Amino acid sequence: MITPRPLGLYLHIPFCVKKCAYCDFYSITDASRMDAYTDALIRSIHEYGEKSAGRTTDTVYLGGGTPSYLGGARLECILHAVRESFALAEDTEITVECNPESTDAVLLDALRRGGANRLSFGVQAAHDNELRRIGRIHDFARARSAVLLAHEHGFSNISLDLMYGLPGQTQDMFLDSLTQCLALQPTHLSCYGLKLEPMTEMGREAPVLPDDDAQADTYLALCRVLRQHGFEHYEISNFALPGFRSRHNSKYWDLSEYIGLGPGAHSLFDGRRFAFPRDIAGFTDGTAAVRNEEEVPDFERQNEYLMLRLRTSDGVELRDLEERYHVDPAPYEAVFRALAKPGLTEQNGTRWHLTDAGFLVSNSIINMITDAASR
Ligand code: SF4
Repeated sequence: MITPRPLGLYLHIPFCVKKCAYCDFYSITDASRMDAYTDALIRSIHEYGEKSAGRTTDTVYLGGGTPSYLGGARLECILHAVRESFALAEDTEITVECNPESTDAVLLDALRRGGANRLSFGVQAAHDNELRRIGRIHDFARARSAVLLAHEHGFSNISLDLMYGLPGQTQDMFLDSLTQCLALQPTHLSCYGLKLEPMTEMGREAPVLPDDDAQADTYLALCRVLRQHGFEHYEISNFALPGFRSRHNSKYWDLSEYIGLGPGAHSLFDGRRFAFPRDIAGFTDGTAAVRNEEEVPDFERQNEYLMLRLRTSDGVELRDLEERYHVDPAPYEAVFRALAKPGLTEQNGTRWHLTDAGFLVSNSIINMITDAASR
């Protein structure tokens, strides 16, 4: 019998001090619901711990929202419940997302006691005018001191989030933010281009952003600088020093199974996908039933595999198409070869992956490949 790969566990913490102007993640600002939510999440952890009996879990990720805003005591209880309910591997990666304004010594001590070994800070920019423009409530001095405090508390695996393509931001301004972030000695960086989501404050306001060419140049410069600093570009928006890739997020990209708990959280577990509705009240009182409980058909899985793997520098393994999905890889290979001529794809043995230039047009390439699949 084949032993299933270890699970990932995602816990959604849907609270933020204030909604950022660009954000459409599910979160609320009513802190009076935190205790009841924590109790409900712990109940859910126990329930799904039982459902996953016999499986090992080797990554835990507390994301949000703003997990650090929930406070050290609640987070410690949550992490304790995870240890009680899930069979954690000895080397489990336990990540907690933190925002600078809610990170202090009390929180970091609690996270250490809870076993967290990786922190991800939402820094976004090193210039206070840019931070204000996108509705962040911290300034860079606060972000810097939070990250330095985390180092002092023994957290050596630290990821920073940064954004480019902000209104009025030039490439030099972004690269200056990047340099200031690199001085904080992160092991990992996630760099996202700003997208205007229609239901957000900035989406409604529709400010002028740097044009596509400027954003593409910034992206290519960012890839270059991080490579010079020894970072591997292992996913479209993610960069890690050797040995420091996000093991949890990598599960999403290689179609490993994971359980997601909390409003808006998704799961791929026992071959089924399901999600909790974006409804904190329903989650807290136990009336929010999971939805989309359907088996994932083979064809959909194969497309999903292509779509997710093409986001990564490891790319698509042609043998996987044959062995996992029983399809002839020849038509895919023909598309990959055609795209190699203009420098959008590269071959590495039996693997094909997108180049930095390919990542810039990844959506079109993914469409071409999935078209080849449907033919
Ligand atoms: S702190 Fe994060 S989750 Fe909360 S509103 Fe801002 S971007 Fe969204």
